Amino acid sequence: TPGSKTPRLTHRFADTFPELALPWEAQETPAPQLALLNNELAELLGMDAEWLATDDGVRFLTGEQPGPDARPVAQAYAGHQFGGYSPRLGDGRALLLGEIAPILPGADSPAAARALRDLHLKGSGRTPFARGNADGQAVLGPMLREYVVAEAMHALGVPTTRALAVVATGAQVLREDLLPGAVLARVAASHLRVGTFQYAAALPDAEASKDLLRRLVDEAVARHHPHAADAENPALALYEAVVGAQAELVARWMLVGFVHGVMNTDNVTLSGETIDYGPCAFIDAFDPGATFSSIDVQHRYAFGNQGPIAAWNLARLGETLLPLLDDDPNRAVELAQEALAGFQARHLAAWRGGLRQKLGLSTDVPDETVAELTDRLFVQLTEASTDWTSFWVRLADMAEADAEADRLIPGARTPDEVAAWLRDWRALSPDAAAMRRVNPVYIPRNHLLDAALMAAEDGDLAPVRELLEAVTDPFAPRPGFERYAEPAAVDGAPFVTYC
Ligand code: AMP
Ligand code: MG
Ligand code: MG
Repeated sequence: TPGSKTPRLTHRFADTFPELALPWEAQETPAPQLALLNNELAELLGMDAEWLATDDGVRFLTGEQPGPDARPVAQAYAGHQFGGYSPRLGDGRALLLGEIAPILPGADSPAAARALRDLHLKGSGRTPFARGNADGQAVLGPMLREYVVAEAMHALGVPTTRALAVVATGAQVLREDLLPGAVLARVAASHLRVGTFQYAAALPDAEASKDLLRRLVDEAVARHHPHAADAENPALALYEAVVGAQAELVARWMLVGFVHGVMNTDNVTLSGETIDYGPCAFIDAFDPGATFSSIDVQHRYAFGNQGPIAAWNLARLGETLLPLLDDDPNRAVELAQEALAGFQARHLAAWRGGLRQKLGLSTDVPDETVAELTDRLFVQLTEASTDWTSFWVRLADMAEADAEADRLIPGARTPDEVAAWLRDWRALSPDAAAMRRVNPVYIPRNHLLDAALMAAEDGDLAPVRELLEAVTDPFAPRPGFERYAEPAAVDGAPFVTYC
């Protein structure tokens, strides 16, 4: 029978949170065509990749044929956007198709809850959560951007939602021009966000609000932080776990030079996965002020501001949990503040630990030595506007060979200090092979990604595919991919993302 190969989806979120789940259907698409399909991920999820590429499979991926058991929903959530609170955001152009149940014995076991993955569509049509005259559509370029960057982040070892497919819908979408429409199929550990908790906390009925918060805590614990279930105060243990996961996550972003660009509370997950690749970008030169998004005029989400902003977002999560932390409101605030205070130490430890690895230094080298070394290095990198990614690749080469110090930081203001730095670093016996395992050669550089997306909008997907090949195997230099390792030519025009 037709549809017999359709993957079985559960509707756990829809069942558990009816007040957050609006049943809704994906729009029909005029001429859907698969642009990218993630075979590896499909197989990991127990899906038949070959079938996904058929006409039926493609209409599964657009949400038009979700299968007989599916109950697609638009999710409700709130959020602080650029610091301003919106009580009702929600999936304006997206749907949770359902969860992909892993093929595991004991479907109700705790391990099964952890292995569940949300299948979510972006660009599947307008829902009642769409504001004003927002059209519910997504455009091919930005959906391919999300696909490429998410898969690059995954390959870099950064926790992230992943991309299963991009389907070009055949529709024309009106933006600044008429542009090709698309649907992205995204896979996530869940879509529980800080904004989900904010929505629950803001319900007018205090009892209903507390009840919903309790269920959300249970779900976040079951799916992402199971050890919290056994804690004396599970809500507090969950909060501590999320604070830790986000502190680590943002440090990981920064180690690979990633700027998320839109760290609104609706884009912060309880799972600790990166979500929502919109106006994101990678730094070229090391610059804490680097901001690429055209709408972030105040540089709120600048490269070096991401730690403090993550802590701010987590404070908003803490506020929502207060009724569950303690019956005494003052004590509840104290507990939340103590938990949040752990952010800074965890974030710094992850950042410094990551820098130690990038430098190829063993744990025998004292923390203070690593800190002193990186402080001196950042002065040099900043002064010379050195490209972050390729610097580390050059440095690994210099761990072994007696290389010329002046190749390391071209245009250094104080070459003698660079030479002294290099001597001091080499005296600590850096491990070049270990460095090559953590310092990527290939990242989705802004200029390359932009050029590839422009070609895709003109109907040529080859550059996107080639870029994807480079960035999904980021640590191994390969012949033919040289241009993906090089920084953009400096032409004076700063890179800007519009999303
Ligand atoms: P984002 O900035 O991507 O996190 O999206 C913020 C909110 O805007 C979410 O509620 C989206 O569903 C909504 N949104 C973004 N673009 C559209 C669109 N074209 N149509 C309807 N809603 C949209
Ligand atoms: Mg979002
Ligand atoms: Mg977005």
